[in-house]
Amino acid sequence: MKPEYEGKAKQILTTSDPHIVIQRFKDSATAFNGEKYAEFLGKGKLNNAISSWAFTALHDAGVTTHFLEHENANDMRVKRLKIIPLEVVVRNVVAGSLHKRIGMPEGTALENPIVETYYKRDDLGDPLLAETHVIALGLADKETLTNLYSQALKVNNVLQPVFKKAGIRLVDFKLEFGCDENGTLILGDEISPDTCRLWDWETGQKLDKDVFRRDLADLIETYEDVAKRLGVKVQ
Ligand code: UDP
Repeated sequence: MKPEYEGKAKQILTTSDPHIVIQRFKDSATAFNGEKYAEFLGKGKLNNAISSWAFTALHDAGVTTHFLEHENANDMRVKRLKIIPLEVVVRNVVAGSLHKRIGMPEGTALENPIVETYYKRDDLGDPLLAETHVIALGLADKETLTNLYSQALKVNNVLQPVFKKAGIRLVDFKLEFGCDENGTLILGDEISPDTCRLWDWETGQKLDKDVFRRDLADLIETYEDVAKRLGVKVQ
């Protein structure tokens, strides 16, 4: 089957139902807008398992997501969404681009979480957008943005304590939202160590894609450790 969409780390495949697609997790990893690339055998199934676990926890807590079923090792059955081209980042701790932008030391806990929107445009380097830009570009209206912020914060409220129980600090993470055929705003994409910053609660050891970005440790061993701590079974 030829994918209808091919991303850096995932593919979208058509099914016989026009409202359902298969989200396939690949073994490839990219960083710095595709400049750094590598293959890690087993990464796809780890991210599929961890993402399926996260979406199930969110569903149980009343967050609407596109997740329908963990189909097999690398595939997840999901609702088809029309994705809003925004990367919605939630931050609990200063790290990454926020550290560079505002100069506060990495690791500083934020009193209240910050929600940011970045424009999904590789050709522009995914720039940070103010709400006025999002509205001017017609990416989302004010009401949709209010709904999106509140869902993003709810995701944070649900996931933060479960990660904490596993000895993991949920530093920041990226979400993507879309609309289903009825125009309802729904959480899509994935939630995995590729899209979250996860630090060991005690030591601060990095347990996410930063190990690849900065060549810090073995990516597969790191993601396996995350799955194990969360009690996620990997096929
Ligand atoms: N992130 C992502 N995809 C992107 C950009 C960021 O999943 O294209 C995640 C990243 O892993 C981190 C959070 O969003 O958990 C915030 O990333 P940041 O803006 O600090 O950028 P980075 O320093 O990762 O380039």
